[in-house]
Amino acid sequence: MSASPAREINNLSKDRRLDWMGQRRFESMDAAEILGWGIKKFGRNLVLSCSFGAPEGLVLLDMMQRLDPGARVFTLDTGRLPQETYDLMDRVRERYGVAIEVVFPDARAVEAMTREHGLNLFYESVEKRLLCCRVRKVEPLRRYLDGVDAWVSGLRREQNVTRADTPKVEIDEAHGGIVKLNPLADWSSERVWSYVREHGVPVNRLHAKGYPSVGCAPCSRAVRPGEDLRAGRWWWERPENRECGIHLDEEAEGSGI
Ligand code: SF4
Repeated sequence: MSASPAREINNLSKDRRLDWMGQRRFESMDAAEILGWGIKKFGRNLVLSCSFGAPEGLVLLDMMQRLDPGARVFTLDTGRLPQETYDLMDRVRERYGVAIEVVFPDARAVEAMTREHGLNLFYESVEKRLLCCRVRKVEPLRRYLDGVDAWVSGLRREQNVTRADTPKVEIDEAHGGIVKLNPLADWSSERVWSYVREHGVPVNRLHAKGYPSVGCAPCSRAVRPGEDLRAGRWWWERPENRECGIHLDEEAEGSGI
């Protein structure tokens, strides 16, 4: 049996991988072209990551469903999401007829963490917050992505200082060298919202209450006028720490506790 496209890529040297990627070609492609390329190249081994807490994932879901009604979408249910996010998942199921693949954390790992550190450990230190994100998000994601060849994320360069260099297509070294597509890397927030309005894309109701980005309930809040778009996530930490580890490499995930 021949190796899957991503495993073939993973076996190449770094220089040859970059050749294969053709970074400059992807940079000149628009979001729909990148998704079309990914669907053609990876078929059902391509999955969209949608948090249902930001419009970007819903824009990509809408685009992918137009290109391929069988396109796969998954989400991480950390166990701490607000009700508005679950409501949106059901609205999307009804609107698109898509079977959302809901991924849960390992129950024993959550039990051990909460037994040792309590339920609200994330407020106590960056290390404990990263531990919670690792148990509830990073490890379940790693487990899930182990079974696919490529994934799609809604990262945009202007979202945070940590995302300024996001390429449109990259090799995801932190997840076994699979391919990661960031089709909206060069989109502005205004462009995302104009796509939502134009196509009637369903979004999280908390956006209308001042939440630009909705994550877990205890770690998300509304932002005040003039504040940074991501100021409502882990607001008690410095901006350079405000990632969950999902889009960072192993080293940047933090050392845990
Ligand atoms: S966002 Fe907060 S509650 Fe959710 S996994 Fe991270 S630390 Fe835990």
